[in-house]
Amino acid sequence: MSGPVFLPMPVASRGVGHLRASRPFPEAAAAALRDAQLRHNLARATATIRAKRAAVVAELPDWEELREAGQAIKARTMAGLDGYLEQLEAEFTARGGTVHWARDAAEANAIVTDLVLAAGASEVVKVKSIVTDEIGLNGALADAGVRAIETDLAELIVQLGHDRPSHILVPAIHRNRAEIREIFLREMPDVDPGLTDEPAALAEAARLYLRRKFLSARVGISGANFAVAATGSLCVVESEGNGRMCLTLPETLITVMGIEKVVPTWRDLEVFLQLLPRSATGERMNPYTSIWSGVTPGDGPQRVHLVLLDNGRTAALADPAGRSALHCIRCSACLNVCPVYERVGGHAYGSVYPGPIGAVLSPQLTGIADNASLPYASSLCGACYEVCPVKIDIPSMLVHLRARAAEEESARRRIPGPEEAAMAAAAWVMSSPAKFAAAQRGGRLGRLFERNGRLRRLPPPLAPWTGARDAPIPPPETFREWWARERGGRR
Ligand code: SF4
Repeated sequence: MSGPVFLPMPVASRGVGHLRASRPFPEAAAAALRDAQLRHNLARATATIRAKRAAVVAELPDWEELREAGQAIKARTMAGLDGYLEQLEAEFTARGGTVHWARDAAEANAIVTDLVLAAGASEVVKVKSIVTDEIGLNGALADAGVRAIETDLAELIVQLGHDRPSHILVPAIHRNRAEIREIFLREMPDVDPGLTDEPAALAEAARLYLRRKFLSARVGISGANFAVAATGSLCVVESEGNGRMCLTLPETLITVMGIEKVVPTWRDLEVFLQLLPRSATGERMNPYTSIWSGVTPGDGPQRVHLVLLDNGRTAALADPAGRSALHCIRCSACLNVCPVYERVGGHAYGSVYPGPIGAVLSPQLTGIADNASLPYASSLCGACYEVCPVKIDIPSMLVHLRARAAEEESARRRIPGPEEAAMAAAAWVMSSPAKFAAAQRGGRLGRLFERNGRLRRLPPPLAPWTGARDAPIPPPETFREWWARERGGRR
């Protein structure tokens, strides 16, 4: 298909790929919390990245102005997204590239698979691309008999470990060095059996394994961090250089990009190239920034494709209170500061987008009903908003999405749920002083459930609430009774 796609097909008919959680967040989080090794790995890794980010951000006196600029550029781009995408298509095509439009995961996978098969490849190399995880591209390629090799080191660890990414930027953050060594020894043919868990030795083993793949690959598949509409240029930033080999060595290069990644001009890109590395890896600039504009005869891939993916993005754009989730530049700073993420890790979120941004983005891309528990995966402490380089107000959006989830749930049920019933009862009690005083006196019954000076576990339907909290026992005398006794009823 061709031409921009705006206003989506109904949520129920979308092939959204790997965005839906297979079980509710509280259930998955409870399981993750029991894994002490996971908590140790996460606490160590996130503390290190947090400290690096804080140090390099503190170096810039105009950091807040840069954040404001990033926020403004994103808002302006989203307001004219259709025009910028058409400009990107025209410029990319004029420079020898081919643009494809995909409404959902199924369409994107079909486009990429057809292109790979047309190139006669049975194996492809990939540079880290979370959007291809979103659409489940590796599975679709495997179904067509094509093996996808991840070339980002962390993605390679996840792939060889038959695992799932748990962080946007450091997908194997839940693994330690000893676990990585075991995976390499088990999965890499020809690996040195004396391999140690020293980082340099592990990196060398990966390098030897990947070098053979780069030199034989006919097709490379990438994501894109940004696309500049003015010149039809695509941009990938990375730390290892593996991505650049993936982008330059194969004859055919296919880039899959969410439609929100476009920026209007190079001056806009300049702002994000300052914000992203400091927020993401705590570096002053990206070690490798690759930018290409169509085809250069005799240099690099000679068949260059761009797949522009919607997959729920225009539905998110239609919600004025939720659309700024599309401003995200995937730096993962919000994950690294989130007290919930630090304790449960990325797998508990179920979606390929974990952490605070996943809790607001995934429910919008799939429709709230499919990820209704994610907006509750937060303490609303606000740390995510404070570090976000494009100032996405995640806490407000979480509250907005909780309200939407509650409304949808309420509309689906015929009888009120326990929370709704409790709120209705509270509204009735608070509607008059007499009812309130009577309820306070009745509350003294709670003293029957006292254990060691606290209310530890009430009977259903209050059992789930008290199962996670200790409440003080009601006093033997209410404040009103005390006032009447002490002051003789005087006001
Ligand atoms: S929401 Fe902000 S902090 Fe979180 S990943 Fe996106 S840009 Fe980074």
